[in-house]
Amino acid sequence: MSSSHLSHLLPTYARADIAIERGEGAWAIAGNGERYLDFGAGVAVNSLGYSHPHLIAALTEQAQKIWHTSNLYQSPQGERLAARLCEATFADQVFFTNSGAEALECAIKMARKYQSSTGHPEKYRIITFEGAFHGRTLATIAAGGQAKYLEGFGPKVDGFDQVPFGDHAAVKAAITPQTAAILIEPIQGEGGVRVVPPQCLRGLRELCDEHGLLLIFDEVQSGVGRTGRLFAYQGTRIAPDIMAIAKGIGGGFPMGACLATKEAAQGMGAGTHGSTFGGNPLAMAVGNAVLDEVLKPEFLEHVNSVSLLLKQKLMGLLDHYPNIISEVRGEGLFLGLRAKVPASDLVTAARANHLLVIPAGDNVVRLIPPLIITADDVASAVQKLEAACNMLENARLTAQKGAAK
Ligand SMILES: *Cc1c(COP(=O)(O)O)cnc(C)c1O
Repeated sequence: MSSSHLSHLLPTYARADIAIERGEGAWAIAGNGERYLDFGAGVAVNSLGYSHPHLIAALTEQAQKIWHTSNLYQSPQGERLAARLCEATFADQVFFTNSGAEALECAIKMARKYQSSTGHPEKYRIITFEGAFHGRTLATIAAGGQAKYLEGFGPKVDGFDQVPFGDHAAVKAAITPQTAAILIEPIQGEGGVRVVPPQCLRGLRELCDEHGLLLIFDEVQSGVGRTGRLFAYQGTRIAPDIMAIAKGIGGGFPMGACLATKEAAQGMGAGTHGSTFGGNPLAMAVGNAVLDEVLKPEFLEHVNSVSLLLKQKLMGLLDHYPNIISEVRGEGLFLGLRAKVPASDLVTAARANHLLVIPAGDNVVRLIPPLIITADDVASAVQKLEAACNMLENARLTAQKGAAK
């Protein structure tokens, strides 16, 4: 429905005027038949692209058996997915959720509960970073600390202390006897594809160990193969105590998870937390199917080689259009173009050339395509970006000429 009609959807989103009806691989196909190369992937969710045969098979097979049983009973598929996630990471235990924000809620509650159950009920505060994004629940907007998301929603949930991005001294100064944990995205997504240097993560790990704090990583966007590692932290050798994941793990099915060491999770006994839908059989079937693909040894090799190709071509674009693009940043297929024009103009120009990309903070355009993109997809995307940059460069020159008259 176009924006000129009355919509019965709450108008919380500024939706672009295209309606995607189906998809094939990295291509999204609108109701009118127009094809868009999707380098936004539903905000890093469609990790295996559209209509992946293995995901379709897993979902339809599960749909014939049972959709939902509740967490009152055993969950064989959940046990299997949790065991596989733990096998592949630092974690010993997993709580399944329906979204990223819920995975963060679990992480926040778990950190507080850990402190209270180990004799420190006074430790409940969590240090977070400027530019962070952790979701849209009341606790996670407080954790993210962005004024535009907090405004008008009453008192900010207490217990979050925000420090500038990359300021180790500020983190140190923010630690008080009430601090329970430090929460950070190893790569800020909404904040503008800002990579936290490994030495910073190491510094946080040391501070946590020294002060008895838990280190929480938010890998909701950076996880599940996106950076060329299964999780971004695995490229740094700095392990957290708790980690929130979501987006890519469901490949489009809404799900998330909170992963933790046995030590960090020790306060979370029966009755301390729950979710009606979290970990339901449909979600678990799809999550396991996503892992079947992502855990194949050649899968991450592919992400690494195709992302190298993309990054090289983007560097070429940067050389050609210094008035449009000022920087290429990010890791693997979690890439950002810092724009010299408003980032939203570049997004719109790309869409006019049938390439979908996503704006972020710091005037960055995110390129977060499905992890299964081919070299041909990369070539098409760069061609479309070139066309978009050309449009913007011409508009810029025309405006300059107009001003000179
Ligand atoms: C998207 C995102 C979230 C929130 O996930 P939802 O599923 O929208 O609740 C949290 N943290 C990060 C880093 C994200 O990118």
